[in-house]
Amino acid sequence: MFSFLKVLARNLIRGPATDPFPFGETFTPKGLRGRVRFDASACAGCRMCEHVCAGGAIRFDDGASELRFTLWHNTCTFCGLCQHYCKTKAIVLTEDWHLTHRQTEKYAMVEQGTVPLVSCLGCGIAMMPVADELVRVAYCETNSDIDRLRQLCPDCRRQLGIKGVQRCRM
Ligand code: SF4
Ligand code: SF4
Repeated sequence: MFSFLKVLARNLIRGPATDPFPFGETFTPKGLRGRVRFDASACAGCRMCEHVCAGGAIRFDDGASELRFTLWHNTCTFCGLCQHYCKTKAIVLTEDWHLTHRQTEKYAMVEQGTVPLVSCLGCGIAMMPVADELVRVAYCETNSDIDRLRQLCPDCRRQLGIKGVQRCRM
């Protein structure tokens, strides 16, 4: 009986032990996988994130002058596979878990981005820009050859490579 009263008194002094959320502040566990962020300037357009997304939450749409990215948070399972396979870290999961919303707002739970296409320096065709982050991942540092190559479309790069081989054989 007395031990019960001791526990009661101690708990009254300490106050509630449970988390006050949603009526008060709470904490965010480190490394929590929450809202997804997309950085169009770092995207290489490889679409690996779309390929590995088991929830089918990611979609790319080809425009005449841009590549459009859409991620629907209501389908996302926050597995983190897209971030894991994105070599340029254009897609990352933040620790923001504030995703509660009304049913009427469910179609607004999206992350969107647009990657503007650029013109190939050789033939002028619209192509995906080669992001700085991709160059850094692929080559660590850049030089004038890499800077020229990144402004060419795959076909023009191939042609340039063939010409280089032909010159070596002459
Ligand atoms: S976000 Fe990353 S994985 Fe997805 S297309 Fe862009 S570079 Fe590729
Ligand atoms: S975290 Fe998982 S489910 Fe969500 S978009 Fe990325 S791959 Fe898809």
